[in-house]
Parts: sequence; C-alpha cells; structure tokens
Amino acid sequence: MLQADAEVHCHAKIMRMTEADPDEAALREAGAILAAGGLVAFPTETVYGLGGNALDPEASRRIYAAKGRPSDNPLIVHIASIDALDRIAAEVPETAKRLASQCWPGPLTMIFRKREIVPDETTGGLDSVAVRFPSNRIASLLIRYAGGYVAAPSANTSGRPSPTTAAHVIEDLRDAVDCIIDGGPVEIGLESTIVDFTVTPPVILRPGYINQEMLTELIGTVDMDPGIQSESENIRPKAPGMKYRHYAPKAELTIVSGTQKNAAERIAALVHEQIKAGRKAGIICSDETKEMYPEGTVWSLGARTEETQIAAHLYGILRACDTAGVDVIYSEAFRTPQLGDAIMNRLTKAAGHRIIDADEKDEQI
Ligand code: AMP
Ligand code: MG
Repeated sequence: MLQADAEVHCHAKIMRMTEADPDEAALREAGAILAAGGLVAFPTETVYGLGGNALDPEASRRIYAAKGRPSDNPLIVHIASIDALDRIAAEVPETAKRLASQCWPGPLTMIFRKREIVPDETTGGLDSVAVRFPSNRIASLLIRYAGGYVAAPSANTSGRPSPTTAAHVIEDLRDAVDCIIDGGPVEIGLESTIVDFTVTPPVILRPGYINQEMLTELIGTVDMDPGIQSESENIRPKAPGMKYRHYAPKAELTIVSGTQKNAAERIAALVHEQIKAGRKAGIICSDETKEMYPEGTVWSLGARTEETQIAAHLYGILRACDTAGVDVIYSEAFRTPQLGDAIMNRLTKAAGHRIIDADEKDEQI
C-alpha cells in the first residue's frame, strides 16, 4: 500500500520490464531523456543506478543535487561495449585489457587516466575516470540508446543503503529524477569491485563480488587499499566516496563477531538489556541462528552456505530496520569465503566501525 501511495505522488515516470524481455521502445524513450540531459534510474546486476549523460557536466551536477552527494565524490561512467573505453580513458595497461576481456560485462569498475572529453564534474575534479560495463541487459540497452556513456552512482539519497529494488529508488528519489526503470530485484546486491589501474600494481579501492583472489588469479598481484577497513583519520581510503558514512540505517548498528554460539548469546543478552531499558531492538542474523533469539525483531539474511543470498538481502534489510523504527540493531558478522570482504566492508561502515568480539572474555576480568 505504501509503495502504491508513493507511486501516485511520484514525479518520475515509471517503466516496468524484465531483464529477460526488455521493453525496447521504453528504453529508447529513456535513452532520449538521458541524451537530453535528464536523469533516469535503472537496474544493474549490482545495485540500481542513478544515470545521467557522463559527457554532459550539467547532467552530472544534477546527479549530485538529486542524491545530496558531496561534489568531490566522483561518478562511475557506465559503457555498453569494451570498445567504448578508448574514447574516455588514456593509458589502459595490458593487464586491464585482459581483465576487461574476462570480467566485462560484469561487476568490475576500473580506474584510468581520463581523456579531456570527460568533464571534471563527472570525476569530482580528478584527472582519472572510473569505468564499468554492466551485464544487466536493461542497463546495456539504455546506455546504448543514451549515446554510450552514462554516469551512474547508486540511486539512493547520499548516506542511505544502496537500492536493490525499484521501490527503494522510489522511496529516495521519486521527485528528483525524470524516469525510473523497474527491472525487478537486482542479482548481486552489493556495489562493484573498484580497481585502480593508474598505479602499479593495481589496487582494490572497494571490495565487491569479484574478490582479490579472483583478480590475482587473472592478472597477478593486486593490492588492497589499506584505507578500506581503517578507522584511523590518518589512513584515508583512496576512493573519495569510501570515506563517507554510508549504507547506514537510522538506528545505531553494532556488529557482534565471534563463534556462532558466542555471538548469538551475546546478542541475545544485549537485546534483553535494551528491551528492559525500553528500547526497540533489531537483530540481523542468519538462518542457522535465527531461532536463538527469543526477543527483538529478527531479520535473517539467509543461510550462510548461500553467501550470494546474504549479500543480496543486506541492503533491503538495513532499509527494513528503518521502516520498523528500531532504536538499536545488533548484527552477526558475515566473513563468508568469496563475498566476506565486500559484505563486511559495507556492514562495518553501516555500523560506524562499532564491533564487539563475543569470543573475548568479559572486559571486567
Ligand atoms: P557509487 O557509484 O555511489 O557506488 O560510488 C562510486 C565510488 O567510486 C565512490 O566510492 C567513488 O569515490 C569511487 N570513484 C569513482 N571515480 C573514482 C576515481 N576516479 N578515483 C577514485 N575513486 C573513484
Ligand atoms: Mg553509492
């Protein structure tokens, strides 16, 4: 009902379609909106993007305004063919070309020196440009109809969890964009891996679905930016956007790590205290532990053996915490094999680095 209401009062035109059967006429229309300087939100395999023509400085300015995004936080330029890269990027190393041929289209963003054609507004004043070729068919058709270069940050209000459904986009941006393409829930649910190729060896600036081990296997040494997980003000992440508080629900979120049993017991005890103090508490857990919590509002991200499901559900559940109006949230940690770095990076930021280790003995002893 809430969603239907939101749509009635929605300024944006909403187009519905599936990835299996994209509506080409509608996408041509949406592409024309982009080419004329308008804003269109659209699905990709990672999260929903807020698109504008990447070669039009005015369109980029509109993107920052719509999201309330700081203007020093550069946008990723989305393309729909590997050949499109040369027009915007200079000095593309051989290793990057190899990676492009293996991982594009897909959830990988690469950073190169930019060519003059890319406006400073799109790159937040940097002389480098971030580029991605998404695999979602709705996205690639839209990019083609828009002229080939679409700047698209995640389609959320700055600071909120990234949108994984069109309903999330409508919630945040319904009056700020011209068109929203609803292509159903996204596949991955976490933003792309970002690799900086302006340095040697290349450096991961944001962990994602394609992890360090996979990259190393494909092209040799790839470092991880030490600023990614750092709490220190002195070790700043290299991607400007990674320094901002992000992905965050309104309630105070704390991660409780440790063995499954210790973590669940500690969370249950903390929730009990909060409820006794008159606060509404939420719990983010997994199918394996969800029965271990007698009190509080319990959200399971899915089974730990299905880590893609954990990733796909994370942002939707952080938003559900807001809707439920909980005051505090406790989350289990999710250090799963392939996506653990990416999931924990988002969760740690959402928690403002508040982590309790349930395996440590009582602090008072
Ligand atoms: P979003 O599109 O909202 O997922 O955010 C894009 C991310 O890419 C942000 O963290 C940016 O800071 C980062 N980014 C984009 N362009 C560059 C660049 N040229 N150099 C470093 N980081 C970049
Ligand atoms: Mg974002």
